[in-house]
Amino acid sequence: MNPLQKLTFLLTGLLFLSAGLVFGQKKNSTHAHKLALVDSAQWRKDNYIVNRDSAFANPYFALQKLTGGNRRFTESRSIYPRQNPALIKKLASGQAPFATIVGCSDSRVSAEILFDQGFGDLFIVRTAGQVMAEASYGTLEYGFLALKTKLIVVLGHTNCGAVDAAIKRPENPPGHIVSLINAIKPAAIAAKKMPGNVLDNAIRLNVINQVNHLRQLEPVLSKNYEEGKLLIVGAVYDLGTGKVTFLKETLEHLPATAFARHDITGK
Ligand SMILES: [Zn+2]
Repeated sequence: MNPLQKLTFLLTGLLFLSAGLVFGQKKNSTHAHKLALVDSAQWRKDNYIVNRDSAFANPYFALQKLTGGNRRFTESRSIYPRQNPALIKKLASGQAPFATIVGCSDSRVSAEILFDQGFGDLFIVRTAGQVMAEASYGTLEYGFLALKTKLIVVLGHTNCGAVDAAIKRPENPPGHIVSLINAIKPAAIAAKKMPGNVLDNAIRLNVINQVNHLRQLEPVLSKNYEEGKLLIVGAVYDLGTGKVTFLKETLEHLPATAFARHDITGK
């Protein structure tokens, strides 16, 4: 290598080195900028973020966290929280879900996705038409007593096949399907006497019936609901829009509670 070649080699090396430094700095500053955004009060406000510990401690904040997550989802601004390998590893030693969801098995009603929540956030029971029986009750009691989850949301959805079957009442349904139809039947019968769309009304009434049933369920849920230590509400998910609407019938006339309340009507 002659002196000129040596110099060219050295200069080229320096050029690559400085380019790398500049690029690295730029990358780091972008990353830092992003972190600053994520941590800022404004970013949290813009994305309807509710502190997880607050949501776990207070069911009214838990409700606000769910409505905020659903807002992000419907606005195509989901942040997909708590879904990284480090968190999954951390959760292996224990869970503290901030809400329990009793939803339909329908493949289009995935609670974590529609509420934009992550691993360890939601304790979930899913059956067709969110019909509940002994095992479901035990699961809900476990969620409250052992996991300290203070909010139960019964989540129905539009165009629910199980509710539709309870309205149409097919003759001799096979296997255990009759148990689903029988459980939803009171809502279906009442809806037929109401003005408006029978299926929509039956879906809403079914959720309200299920909420009322859980509020009266002895011995664990009824007592704690009456004492204001557990909040049980109902909602309907719209398959077409992705929006969850909490039913006002289940948000009114709630028992006195020691939890600090705030607006839970989703306005
Ligand atoms: Zn359904």
